[in-house]
Amino acid sequence: NDQITTAQLTAWVTECARLINVHADALNDLDATAGDADHGSNLERGFTAVMAIGLLDQLDSPRELLKHVGSTIVDVVGGSSGALYGTFFLRMAVTSGPNGVLDAAGFAELLRAGGQGIVDRGSAQVGDKTLYDSLAPAITALDQALAAGDTLARALISASAAADSGRDGTVALAARKGRASYLGDRTIGYADAGATSMALIIRAAMTTLG
Ligand code: ADP
Ligand code: MG
Ligand code: MG
Repeated sequence: NDQITTAQLTAWVTECARLINVHADALNDLDATAGDADHGSNLERGFTAVMAIGLLDQLDSPRELLKHVGSTIVDVVGGSSGALYGTFFLRMAVTSGPNGVLDAAGFAELLRAGGQGIVDRGSAQVGDKTLYDSLAPAITALDQALAAGDTLARALISASAAADSGRDGTVALAARKGRASYLGDRTIGYADAGATSMALIIRAAMTTLG
């Protein structure tokens, strides 16, 4: 039974925070090749605030939980990623409705809505070398796997693999959005920092929601 409880979503967010913490320096180093070397620090600050003692445990619906994550990230993280990741989680919150439990299709719908929020906010397209380059293929892979009858666990494995290849695909691209676009062709040869963090967010979903 492919149900996702609020407790599982809490585990997802907790795993996101852990992975961002582990990879913060690497994300800063990637951002240094194209921007201002703060992407890991930005997200680490955001997720640390999200995880502040006691807060997460008081939230008992997907909507409340995702709203807490999105609004905290908007408040605490500056820069492009604060607005973009904040919108991502807030749009998932709005889409999740007031009910307590999600099913697999419901989660896929949330992820798609979050991706649309990022596009609405930053108008990135696939190929612009942004976090959307790992998110968009993950959304597609999740939908396709579920449509083919895969379990949520298997579908999330496909989604995470697609996010990782999307991230790897940014190495060959020149940045066209955000601060990195000022360097353009000089960003070729390095993965995009945001695509790398988004692949971690999807990997965390694979290990906690499947
Ligand atoms: P800043 O660029 O303000 O320092 P961060 O370093 O935290 O913010 O985030 C940079 C990341 O944000 C980039 O690696 C890219 O993935 C993402 N990004 C920047 N602009 C956009 C946009 N318009 N749409 C989607 N993602 C974007
Ligand atoms: Mg930066
Ligand atoms: Mg910055």
